[in-house]
Amino acid sequence: MAGVRAAAPDDYVIDHVETKDPVIFVTVDDGSHLSRETTQYIRNLRVPITTFALPEQVNRHRRRFVNLLRQTGMTFENHTQTHRTVSSMSYAGQRAEICAGNREIREVIRRQPAFFRPPGGGWNDDTIRAAKKCGLSRIVMWNVLADGGTIVRADGDSGLRRGDIILLHYLDSLPSSLDVVRREASKRGLRMALLRDYLPPTQSAG
Ligand SMILES: [Zn+2]
Repeated sequence: MAGVRAAAPDDYVIDHVETKDPVIFVTVDDGSHLSRETTQYIRNLRVPITTFALPEQVNRHRRRFVNLLRQTGMTFENHTQTHRTVSSMSYAGQRAEICAGNREIREVIRRQPAFFRPPGGGWNDDTIRAAKKCGLSRIVMWNVLADGGTIVRADGDSGLRRGDIILLHYLDSLPSSLDVVRREASKRGLRMALLRDYLPPTQSAG
């Protein structure tokens, strides 16, 4: 997890959610492989997913994504316009990249993104300024990786805990990875929830 830093003092950058509820948060990035099987899996099991996909990828699978929005309440957040590592860019460049991501997601999905996830996990103080300027209410990192069905915690422990933010990608292995997450969650009495239900978007322009 190169580039990942501890949460900023104002909690604008988070890698987990402080909550007393027995919930975990599934976030899925990138959107390049959204198969019919994956779509059916998410729909049939009503998996609540916070999606961080590029506008281009959302547009390519527009019909499937829009159906998932209607059927499962999937939300579409900001992962930049072109998947650049924003921490190596100027403030103005970051702002342009992030605001363009908002605009294009809005054009495809007719919803305003609320959160930002930097590609590669790299961010700096300018990223916070830029994301705020673009009207986003949080930078959302993660504390658990689960691609391929192996649960890897940033803190080195095993299993899942309430408030965890789990990172997955739209790969053909997503259904089997989600099987592992669901099994582990139910073993510990945890259910999956949407980030927006726990981190309400702030009212600001974007
Ligand atoms: Zn990505």
